[in-house]
Amino acid sequence: MLPTPDGRAGRAERPRLAGQELSVALARVGAMTTLVIGGHGEQADPLAEARARSATLAQFFLGDPQGWKGPEFAYAGGAAGLRADAEAAGIALVVHAPYVLNVATSNNRIRIPSRKFLQQHLHAAAEVGAVGLVVHAGHVLKADDPQIGFDNWRKCIERLELPVPLLIENTAGGDNAMARRLERVARLWDAIGGAPGADQVGFCLDTCHAHAGGEELVGLVERVRSITGRIDLVHANDSRDGFDSGADRHASLGDGFVPPEALVEVVRTAGCPVVVETPGGREGQAADIAWLREQV
Ligand SMILES: [Zn+2]
Repeated sequence: MLPTPDGRAGRAERPRLAGQELSVALARVGAMTTLVIGGHGEQADPLAEARARSATLAQFFLGDPQGWKGPEFAYAGGAAGLRADAEAAGIALVVHAPYVLNVATSNNRIRIPSRKFLQQHLHAAAEVGAVGLVVHAGHVLKADDPQIGFDNWRKCIERLELPVPLLIENTAGGDNAMARRLERVARLWDAIGGAPGADQVGFCLDTCHAHAGGEELVGLVERVRSITGRIDLVHANDSRDGFDSGADRHASLGDGFVPPEALVEVVRTAGCPVVVETPGGREGQAADIAWLREQV
C-alpha cells in the first residue's frame, strides 16, 4: 500500500452509520444529558410503574414471557390509550419480547412460530408507541454450525416489517448462543447487515449477560460499537454469578460480581436509555435507578 502524503499508510475508511454518529455524539455529551432510565415492571400500568421508580421509562412484556400467548394489552385504555398517556407523561416505553422466541434455531417448530410471534410483537410495540422491541439473540442446537443461526437471523430480518426498532440483546449462557461473546455478535451483524431493514435493527447491551457471558465490561461499549455501530439500550444489571459463569441471574446493583465502576462506565459511555431488570420490585429498582443517576 502506498503511503499517503502525510507519511502514514493509507487505510480504507470504515463506513459510518447514522446510528453510530448519533450514539457517538450522545456519548460525548453524556455528562450533560439527562439519563433516560427506568425499570422492568407490569404492563397493567407502565406509567404507575415508572412513577413508583421516579423513572422516565418503563419496560414490560405484552403477555407471558415464557409462553406463546399474546401479544395482549392489559392497560385500561388499551394500546392507543397507553400510547397517548405515555406521550403526555413524557415516559418512554420499551417492550420486551417473550423469552420463548428463538428465530435462530434450526428447529422449524420453534423458528417458524418465533418469526410470526416476533412480527406480532413488533406491531404491538408500535401500537403502544414503544421506542423499541427487545429480543434475545437466541441460539442454535448444540451440534449445529452457528452459521445456520446467523443465516436464519438474516432471513428473518429480510422478511420482517419493522415499524419500531428491533433491539437484539446479548445473552449470558449457552456455548451455541448467537450473541454471548462479541465474536458471535460480529458474525451476526455481518449476516444481517445487508438485509433490507437492517437500519431498524439495533443492539441492547445487558451488563449481567456480558459479565456472566465472559466479556469484560471495561471498554465494552467501544468494542460493541466497533461491531454494531450503535448501542440503543443498556440493561444495567448486576450478576449473581461470576465472570464467564454462563448463568443468567440478575442481582441488585452492587450486590453481585459486576465491578460497580465498570457498570457505571458502560452506562456513561453508551449515552443511551437504560433499563434496570434487577430484583426487589419497585423499591429495589427505584434504589438502583437513584444510585445510577448519582454515579453517571
Ligand atoms: Zn436484559
